[in-house]
Amino acid sequence: MTSLPLVFDAPRRALPPRHLADLDPGERRAAVQELGLPGYRADQLARHYFGRLTADVDVMTDLSAAARETLRPLLPALVTPVLEQDCDGGSTRKTLWKGHDGTRAESVLMGYPDRATVCVSSQAGCGMACPFCATGQGGLERNMSTGEIVEQVRQAAAAARDGALGAPARLSNVVFMGMGEPLANYKRVVAAVRRITAPAPDGLGISARGVTVSTVGLVPAIHKLTDEGLPVTLAVSLHTPDDELRDTLVPVNNRWKVDEVLDAARGYAIVTGRRVSIEYALIRDVNDQPWRADLLGKRLAQRIGRHRVHVNLIPLNPTPGSEWDASPRPVQDEFVRRVEAAGVACTVRDTRGREIAAACGQLAASQV
Ligand code: SAH
Repeated sequence: MTSLPLVFDAPRRALPPRHLADLDPGERRAAVQELGLPGYRADQLARHYFGRLTADVDVMTDLSAAARETLRPLLPALVTPVLEQDCDGGSTRKTLWKGHDGTRAESVLMGYPDRATVCVSSQAGCGMACPFCATGQGGLERNMSTGEIVEQVRQAAAAARDGALGAPARLSNVVFMGMGEPLANYKRVVAAVRRITAPAPDGLGISARGVTVSTVGLVPAIHKLTDEGLPVTLAVSLHTPDDELRDTLVPVNNRWKVDEVLDAARGYAIVTGRRVSIEYALIRDVNDQPWRADLLGKRLAQRIGRHRVHVNLIPLNPTPGSEWDASPRPVQDEFVRRVEAAGVACTVRDTRGREIAAACGQLAASQV
């Protein structure tokens, strides 16, 4: 991968202390041995953490009191919930987390009849500066560590299991669509995906098919992800099929153009066999014209292939200080019709969590 320009580097803020979830199985055993215990204790610890979803050493009674004290430093509290809000009849729950250094980030747990999904943050803030996104307006604070990302998922899985969404539910999907640009925090995000998808006791055992990584289109990082052998779903936040408008809606387009992004997405779809998802926030009178729908369908069909791609329209969610709003329903319906006429599947995303500023593009970690 060619190195990313400096603008994508997070400010050099200290990452949190080392956590069990930062480590792969070999590193875990080494860490436990460094602490003076036999390596198999690492597997015991991992069974509690990934299998039973607990980070509380005091309940791990198959370990001696002395071993529990020795292992305690491997499970520091990385993200602590400071505010929980829910809406949609309790089926959407937003959590505001505080990191060890006071950094704030948010995640959103959503229950559906057939699945439960958590939307996690990969960075505190975001450096991509998309003008319609509340996270982008605040700038980038720092990358989140692998442990901080996995902790959001582990706590969401425990909450779903314990009935936070009503009936007890198994967390089946993880989407990297919270705060941050996941591919700008590449190594930590990929390690987190490995921890999330590895079967217990090495990981949380969530199917890679249930994991989606969303990107503004960092082309070298998409190529790199293609070679990881991780069959996660790739989502690309395109928002318009033409470079002229995309240069302003998604500023990173000045570096990597629409065609390059679509070519990288095609490569990803071919190698992984996974259909790529194209995210498109419909903004009234900005990117919702019928001709743009036609152009979108045509370019996706040509450059990716109509069976390798799916368009996910997101009615624009309001963000503070923005003069833009969602397209009227008839405009949205016509947009869908035209994309489908090009042979490309197109659906409209349900906008969960608007009242609690938990919907796409609204996460700003601004409460409290
Ligand atoms: N940085 C990554 C991950 C964030 S995903 C990415 O951009 O893909 C969040 C999704 O919500 C992205 O598709 C983003 O473009 C979209 N989004 C941002 N602001 C929005 C808004 N106000 N309304 C609807 N969608 C929005």
